[in-house]
Amino acid sequence: MGLKNLPSVDEVLRDSRIVVKEAHCSRDLVVDEIRRVLGGLREEFIHKNILMDRESAKERVVGEVLQALDRLRTGTLRRVLNGTGVVLHTNLGRAPLMAETLDYSLDLARSYTNLELDLDTGKRGSRYQHLESMLVKLTGAEAALVVNNNAAAVLLVLNSLAQDREVIVSRGQLVEIGGSFRIPEIMSLSGAILVEAGTTNKTYISDYAGNITENTAALLAVHTSNYRIVGFSQEVPLDELASLGRSKNLPVIQDLGSGSLLDLSPWGLDYEPTVTECLQFGVDVVTFSGDKLLGGPQAGIIVGKRALIEGMKKNHLLRALRVDKITIAALEATLRHYIDGNPRQTVPVLEMLTCEKADLQNKAHQLCSLIEDFLQDWEGGYSLRVVETQDKVGGGAYPLQVLPGFGVEVQFGFDPEILARQLRLQEPAVLLRIQEGALLFSVRTLRDGEVEMIPGLLLEALRETVN
Ligand SMILES: *Cc1c(COP(=O)(O)O)cnc(C)c1O
Repeated sequence: MGLKNLPSVDEVLRDSRIVVKEAHCSRDLVVDEIRRVLGGLREEFIHKNILMDRESAKERVVGEVLQALDRLRTGTLRRVLNGTGVVLHTNLGRAPLMAETLDYSLDLARSYTNLELDLDTGKRGSRYQHLESMLVKLTGAEAALVVNNNAAAVLLVLNSLAQDREVIVSRGQLVEIGGSFRIPEIMSLSGAILVEAGTTNKTYISDYAGNITENTAALLAVHTSNYRIVGFSQEVPLDELASLGRSKNLPVIQDLGSGSLLDLSPWGLDYEPTVTECLQFGVDVVTFSGDKLLGGPQAGIIVGKRALIEGMKKNHLLRALRVDKITIAALEATLRHYIDGNPRQTVPVLEMLTCEKADLQNKAHQLCSLIEDFLQDWEGGYSLRVVETQDKVGGGAYPLQVLPGFGVEVQFGFDPEILARQLRLQEPAVLLRIQEGALLFSVRTLRDGEVEMIPGLLLEALRETVN
C-alpha cells in the first residue's frame, strides 16, 4: 500500500503554488481543502489499492486543491450567451438589463442613500415611497408598492385583504407557474381560503356570484400565463368581474404575471391588456413581475386603490418581502425609460421582442459567415446554414405565440447533445436549441458583441468534444 507516499498537510502548504494561492485565500480554507483532498486520496489508496509515488501523489493533491480553491473564489454564477431565442428565460435570469440601468444602481449602491430617510424633514422615511410616483404616473393607479417578486406580491395582497376569509378563483385559473408558484399553495400560505368557481374550461359570472358568502373577502383573477384552454372555453371578462366586485363591495385582485406597460400588438404580438387597461376595467389591485415583460430587475409590483395598498404597507409580512436598494435603483432606471417615452429602444427585453425581421436576418448571416471563417481550422465535416426560427417570449407570457426569427443551424457528424454540453461548459457558457440532430443558434437573444463570441467558443467546444 502506498499510504506512506501521501504528503503531509505541511508539505502541501509549502508548495510554491499553494503559497501563492494563500495570498488570496484564508489559510483556514486552504488547510481545510488540503485535508479534504488528502482524505479522499487516502480512501482511494486503501480501497482501490492504488500505487502512486510520493511526487505524483503530491502533484495530484496540489492540483485538486488549487482547482477547488479557484471554484470557491469565483462562485458558480456564470455569464450565459442565450442562443435559444426565448427572450424571458426564467432559468437564465429572465430580463437582461442595460448597462446604463446597472451603472445607475451600482453608483447608488457604492455610497449611502436616502433609502429610508426623508431628506426634507431629516426624519425616517420609507423605502416604499421611491418607486411609487413613477408607477402611479405610468399605470394610472392611485398607489403602488414594490416587493421582492410577484409571488411575494400575491402573498402580501391575499394576506392583507383576505386572511382567514374566502377568495373566489375560477377553476380554469388555478395555475402552476414555474414549478413552485401554485395558486392553491400561495393561497393557503397567505391564510386565505380558496373557493373554486366554475369548471376547468368554462366559468361564468354566475359562478362567482353564486359562491359569494358572508365570509368572502375578494375575487381573484389569475393570468393563465403559461397555458391556454382552447376550444370550448370561457372566462369572465375583467370588466364584468370588476362590476360584480363593485356591486358586492368586494375587492377584485388580478395576478397579471407578466404585466406589460405597453401594448405590443403593433409589433405582431397578440393583444393583451396592459396594466393600465386592467385598472381601467375596474380591477382594484393588479400584481405583476418586474423582470418579465417590463424588462427590469426581479421585483413584484402591486398597483391599485390607495386604501387597499395603505393596508398592505402596514402588514408586518412586508418586512420579510421587502426589496433591496439595488433593486429599487434598477427599477427606477428601468421605469425612467418608460417615462422618457422610448422603452422599445432602451429596454433590452422590448428591443428583442420587437426587432425587425430584416435585422435578425442580417445578424444570422453575420453569425453564419463568422462561424464559417472559424471552421476553416476544423478538419471534420459539417453543414452550416441560415434558417428561420420560431422564437418565444417565455417567462409565462404569450405561451402559444411564435416570434418568427432567424438563426444558424450547424451539424457535425456526431451527437449534438455532447457538443451542446461542451458549449454550456465554456466561459461564457453558450445555450442553444437542438433541432433534428443539429445545433440551432437563434440570434434574437444574442446581445451586443455576443455574435462575435460564438464562433470561437464553438470551435473550442468542438475540440474538447473530439479529444
Ligand atoms: C410569473 C408569474 C408569477 C410569479 O412571478 P415571480 O415574479 O416569478 O414571483 C405569478 N403569477 C403569474 C400569473 C405569473 O405569470
